[in-house]
Amino acid sequence: MRTTIRSSVAIEGIGLHKGKPAKVVFRPAEGATGLRFLSPLFGDPLPALLSNVAGTVRGTNLTDGRSTIYTVEHLLSAAAGLGIDDLDIELTGEEPPAGDGSALPFASALYKAGFREKPGQERKSLQLKGRLEMRKGDVAYLAQPAAKGVFFKLTYDYPHQLVGRQTLEFALSPEEYLARVAPARTFGFSHELEALKKAGLALGGSLDNAVVITGTEILAKGGLRFADEFVRHKLLDLIGDLALTGLPLKDVYIEAERSGHAANVNFAKLLLEKAYL
Ligand SMILES: [Zn+2]
Repeated sequence: MRTTIRSSVAIEGIGLHKGKPAKVVFRPAEGATGLRFLSPLFGDPLPALLSNVAGTVRGTNLTDGRSTIYTVEHLLSAAAGLGIDDLDIELTGEEPPAGDGSALPFASALYKAGFREKPGQERKSLQLKGRLEMRKGDVAYLAQPAAKGVFFKLTYDYPHQLVGRQTLEFALSPEEYLARVAPARTFGFSHELEALKKAGLALGGSLDNAVVITGTEILAKGGLRFADEFVRHKLLDLIGDLALTGLPLKDVYIEAERSGHAANVNFAKLLLEKAYL
């Protein structure tokens, strides 16, 4: 059975890249319409699907061919991580509020709104028959059928003395997602952040919504939430990008090393191509 939320819920803040006021309203969806965006920018609702991906520079962006919305991956991650199939996502600006840089504001709002199953609406899911691999340089993905459940193993390796190699193994469920993945914040290196701001990106970026790594220290408001917060955020992003297949994963094991948005989207395409529904 397909799932939506019980009641509408709104979140306000500022957008990460444009630094402008931003508001999102999550609304229950009656039909089997998937995750989709409603915005004054678009004539029709824009489904969160791979075919609508505009680009993956510092985030995942969607377009209807004329207008673009930016950095939607944390919001999609929250919906997919909680197992929500159908959701109307109303945006007032070009991007959702950055919140604290994690998916927690979205996930806890959705969780509090409550879930509602929709009798008569069949839930299709993405399953695999065999093993699947994708590799480019030191970026690697693997997927294979699993007995029961959705499992991830992520490795993040950064040649920085303060981060180094982090590995995370995770079995997906709404509660585990909310507790262990949603709170992991986005992170950036201070030299990158300066370059981004010069390029007109990350204008809303600050220690309120990102963990910043300098040459000698990790700047995190309130300290790191997990010792391995970085790799947890990589999983958060991956779950959000895989939601662009339009299908929930079922009985699959996924491994990723040095994942990023562009590669995530390519991997999602491959999964969809090889999946049986
Ligand atoms: Zn992210």
